[in-house]
Amino acid sequence: MDDKWTAGTLDVEEGNPPWPGEANDADDLAHQVRPDFPILQRVVRGHPLVYLDNAATSHKPLQVIEALAGFYRHSNANIHRGLHALAEEATAAYEEARAKIARFINAPAPENLVFTRGTTEAINLVASAWGRTALRPGDEIILTEMEHHSNLVPWQMLAQATGAVLRYLRVSDDGALVLDDLDRWLGKRTRLVALTAVSNVLGTVNPVAEIAARAHRSGALVLVDGAQAVPHMPVDVRAWDCDFLAFSGHKMLGPMGIGVLYAKSDVLAAMPPHMGGGDMIRKVTLEGFTADDPPGRFEAGTPNVAGAVALGAATDYLSRVGIHRVWAHTRALSAYAVQRLRSIEGVTVYGPTENRGGAVAFNVEGVHPHDLATYLDQQGIAIRAGHHCAQPLMVRLGVVATARASVYLYNLRAEIDALINGIEGACHFFGYVA
Ligand code: PMP
Repeated sequence: MDDKWTAGTLDVEEGNPPWPGEANDADDLAHQVRPDFPILQRVVRGHPLVYLDNAATSHKPLQVIEALAGFYRHSNANIHRGLHALAEEATAAYEEARAKIARFINAPAPENLVFTRGTTEAINLVASAWGRTALRPGDEIILTEMEHHSNLVPWQMLAQATGAVLRYLRVSDDGALVLDDLDRWLGKRTRLVALTAVSNVLGTVNPVAEIAARAHRSGALVLVDGAQAVPHMPVDVRAWDCDFLAFSGHKMLGPMGIGVLYAKSDVLAAMPPHMGGGDMIRKVTLEGFTADDPPGRFEAGTPNVAGAVALGAATDYLSRVGIHRVWAHTRALSAYAVQRLRSIEGVTVYGPTENRGGAVAFNVEGVHPHDLATYLDQQGIAIRAGHHCAQPLMVRLGVVATARASVYLYNLRAEIDALINGIEGACHFFGYVA
């Protein structure tokens, strides 16, 4: 990518469809970056697309699309094995991407990062490689009630296989973690505390550094699910002092099928490989093998090289925009959404009012969230409805499903206004008139 690149490569007036509502200074960032996202120019069901499903996946700027296509156009070759020019180029691009992403989260070295398919695979990697060797029957893992299934099921499978015991931190009525139980539970048997940094339903931002400090005092490791955090907020793994961090490229402007497991060097070095094959070995004989050092030890087979390169381009994009600006925008826009939603009679918004991530879950009295999502879709407004892969949290909230709007750097206040108008329309359409 050109070093002189700046966000907003197209003229805003030409690049965007007309938006309802007035321009607002808080939308500056969104206006600047929108022209980089071709998909935002789509007209859906006769309306300009209003995309509020960013917690599921984000859109991709031209710079990322070009990086992905550019790899296949110019440098395609398998990595780490060939001695020809293209193989060297592809290997260099893959390792350069690892270094960029390491800097993005302030990891001590590129070797602290293992490329995976995403958050889910990263957490499963830890559960298999670390969990199956480190855990004994009766060992304990502390999770929370607000976890995504990706940070629940792998530990439940591990508990079944090893006899480990799972404990869950509760969620308060205003969507915060109840930390009272933490010190009571942390003890000699606690091996891991695994929690999300930002809830994909409630938007809650959890005090990761504080929890990690407490967990470490009793000798437990800490795994952070960063799927909803790394895309939006400045994440510094050294400030958090977490042992593991898992995140997905596709939620942070990168392509699908690429993600990262960060781990501290000593933790990674002590873990055996979870998968065998090419590229993860130093030597193989008919009698056995010696495993490579990390991160190669955990990257058996041909990896998603183009995906890694494009994720590197995504972190370039976020760095040049400024991740602090992205975070300010996410917080301002989600707070605006909460405030506007709460002003509609019959709407319940879950989670905190302030200091929240990009996801805003809500329900409208008398309207099933699936009906609401379908109704809004007719107006080109994309939200999500369902359990958001957090069924235990739904039980805690006393609902089977919620609607969820989730914002990112390219969303405008006018899009929240369009959502609000749509919800009001749905209330009339479905017979619940506030
Ligand atoms: N954790 C959280 C908090 C998430 O929001 C998601 C995606 N919805 C995941 C994990 C799983 O991510 P992926 O499907 O990319 O592996």
